[in-house]
This record gives sequence, structure tokens and C-alpha cells, in this order.
Amino acid sequence: PLDRRPATLPLSFVIPGLNEAESLPELARSISAVAKELGQEHEIIFVDDGSTDATWQVIAGLREELPSVRGVRLRANFGKAMALSAGFARARGETVFMMDADLQDDPKDIPKFLEAIAGGLDVVVGWKVNRLDPANRKVLSRIFNGTVGLVTGVRLHDMNCGFKAFRREVIQTIPIYGDLFRFIPVLAKWQGFSVGEV
Ligand code: UDP
Ligand code: MG
Repeated sequence: PLDRRPATLPLSFVIPGLNEAESLPELARSISAVAKELGQEHEIIFVDDGSTDATWQVIAGLREELPSVRGVRLRANFGKAMALSAGFARARGETVFMMDADLQDDPKDIPKFLEAIAGGLDVVVGWKVNRLDPANRKVLSRIFNGTVGLVTGVRLHDMNCGFKAFRREVIQTIPIYGDLFRFIPVLAKWQGFSVGEV
């Protein structure tokens, strides 16, 4: 069940990670630098999705360095959707971000998402422009986004982008399990939320 405690913070960052020990310190430091620049109180919720490397120890170490870091540890590897749900259920932000742990998403882009939220969007989906994935993946991505757009009417360039921002109400309304996290923008639109991309 989702946590219904009132929001107490402007920003939450929910970051699922499977064996991401090496990238978490840099990610946490750059998110907190951006939040500090914005003058916004925030929390960084790392969800350790059953890692077998030092991910959990690294999260524990970061908590000493950065008071905004929180850790959630899943008993086993349940997959990204479950890890996101566990993080969202604990997020206290008015705006809740999801980001990948592997430094694919640049915290410097956080302000762009916040501007879009301030401009009235409920869901802001990232769109990787200089995409470093292999060519076959880019083709699959175009087919996926095109098909989903045709079937659902929700047209986005990069529906699956791991970098998204939500107004709190969205994550309290939309259930995420299995592979549903891929379709959060569609489910949100069907629930009457406004969806856009940056
Ligand atoms: N991830 C996770 N559990 C899993 C698989 C992946 O929490 O079982 C995390 C992973 O650590 C990363 C994010 O989900 O932070 C996206 O995974 P990945 O980078 O492998 O996906 P891609 O960027 O290739 O779509
Ligand atoms: Mg990745």
C-alpha cells in the first residue's frame, strides 16, 4: 500500500539500483549539489534491489556524508518496477523524481524538469537526445514509442526514459508492478494528469 503521510519536502529522488556501488557516490553528490543550488530541501532514496556488490555498504557510507540520503534494501532482486514502488511509497516530496543509478541521467537537467512541473505538467518524461545506446536499441525504442503512441494516443519520444518527474499525486494514484513502470505516462494521462517531455 502507498504511504499517505503528508508531504514534508519539496523534492524526492528515487533511485533503484542493482549492483551500482561504483556510481552512487558521484550521483548522490551531484544531485545534492544541484538541490543546494536551487535552495530546495530534498531527499535521495536509494533502493538496493538485491545487489550482490557493495551497493548497500556504499549507501550506508553516503548517509554519513549526506544527511539527505536514505536507503531501502529489498530482500532479493525484484526488478526495477518493484524497486521504484518501494521508493515511491517512502517518498515525501511534492515533486518526486525517478532516475537511473548508472549516471546515465545528468542531475544538471533537474531544473528543466522542475520548470516543466511549475509550468503545469503533472508528469515530465526525459528524452535522451545524444543517446549512447547501440543502434539496434535506438531502432527498438522508436518502434516501441511509435506503437505505444498509436495505440494509446500518448505520444512521447522516449517513454522508457529512466529520468522522470512527477507531482506527488501521480505516484499516489498509479500502481506500478511488473512492467507497468514503462507505461506510467500512459496510465497517468488516462487518469487525467497532464504529461509532457523535456
Ligand atoms: N535496476 C534495478 N533492478 C534490476 C535491474 C535494474 O534496480 O533488476 C536498476 C539499475 O541499477 C539502473 C536502472 O534500474 O539504476 C536501469 O537499469 P539499466 O541501466 O540496466 O537499464 P537501461 O538503462 O539499460 O534501460
Ligand atoms: Mg542504464
